Amino acid sequence: MANIIDGKTISAQIKEELAVKVKELKSKGVDICLCVIQVGNDPASSVYVKNKKKGCELVGIDSVSYELPESTTQEELLELIEKLNNDEKINGILVQLPLPSHIDENAVIEKISPLKDVDGFHPVSVGNLCIGRPGFVSCTPAGIIELLKRSNIDIAGKECVVLGRSNIVGKPMSILMLRQNATVTIAHSKTADLKSVCKRADILIVAIGKSRFIDSGYIKDGAVVIDVGINRDENNKLCGDVDYDDVFDKCSYITPVPGGVGPMTIAMLLNNCVDSVVLQGKA
Ligand code: NDP
Repeated sequence: MANIIDGKTISAQIKEELAVKVKELKSKGVDICLCVIQVGNDPASSVYVKNKKKGCELVGIDSVSYELPESTTQEELLELIEKLNNDEKINGILVQLPLPSHIDENAVIEKISPLKDVDGFHPVSVGNLCIGRPGFVSCTPAGIIELLKRSNIDIAGKECVVLGRSNIVGKPMSILMLRQNATVTIAHSKTADLKSVCKRADILIVAIGKSRFIDSGYIKDGAVVIDVGINRDENNKLCGDVDYDDVFDKCSYITPVPGGVGPMTIAMLLNNCVDSVVLQGKA
C-alpha cells in the first residue's frame, strides 16, 4: 500500500516558511512585488490569476495585476512588459498562459527580463537550469523536487523516468532530477515499449495530460509515482494521468489528484518571488 504524498500540507508549510522570510526582508526595507498579466478572460486563467494573487497576500508579497482585453495587440503587451522590466518596484513578472492566438507566446516570454522571470520560462532561465547556474526554475518541476525531499525520498542513484517532454514540465523536470543525481530517462509519445521503460522507474513522474493513462502494468513494485496531470474524466471529475486506484497497492509513494503536485506550483511561484530579490542584488 502506498504512502500518500500530501501536497496541500507540504505547500502550506512552504508558504509559512516564505511568510517568515518575507517578514524578515520587509524589516530590512525590502518589499517584494509580483505583477500578473492576463490577456482576455479565459475562465480557467482567471481562476489561476486569482489564486496567485491570493497566495501573494497570504505570505505578504505585494501584487499588482493587469487584466487586458482579448483585443490587446502583441506590440501593446510587449510595451507593457518593457515598462515593468524597468520598474524598480516590480520584482516578478508573470504573463498567464495561454495567450490569445494572435500573440506569439515565445516573443512575450523572451521579452520578460530573466531577472524577473518568476515562471522560469525564459530561454536564459532554462539555460541556467541546464548548466547549474542560479536562476528561476519552472514552478511545477521545482515543486516536485520539494515534494520528494520533504517526503524523505532518496533521489540520488535512482532510476527516474519522466513521461512527457513539454518545456514547462517534462524537460525542466528531467534536468532537475539529473541535478539531484538520478539516472534519468525521458519518455514521450514516440517512445517504443513505453510499459517496459516506465517499469524501470524507481521514481516515475507522469506529465502527459491523458486521464488515468498509467495503470499498474506500467509500475515497478515499490515505485514512487508522481502524477502531474490535471484532467477531467468522462464524468467531468478531476483526475490525473495515473489510474490512482489501480496503482495504489503497487507503489511505495503516490501523489493524489487533486491535492498532490497542484498546490506546489503556486508555493514555488511565491518562492521564486522571494528569490527574485536575491537575484536582483536587493537582499
Ligand atoms: P503537453 O501537452 O505540453 O505535453 C504532453 C507530453 O506528453 C508531450 O511530451 C507528449 O509527447 C507526451 N504524451 C502525450 N500522450 C502520450 C502518450 N500516450 N504516451 C506517451 N507520451 C505522451 O502537456 P504539459 O506538460 O503542459 O502538461 C501535462 C499534464 O500536466 C496536463 O494534464 C496538465 O494539465 C498538467 N499540468 C499540471 C500542472 C500542475 O500544476 N500540477 C502544471 C502544468 C501542467 P510528444 O512530445 O511526443 O507529443
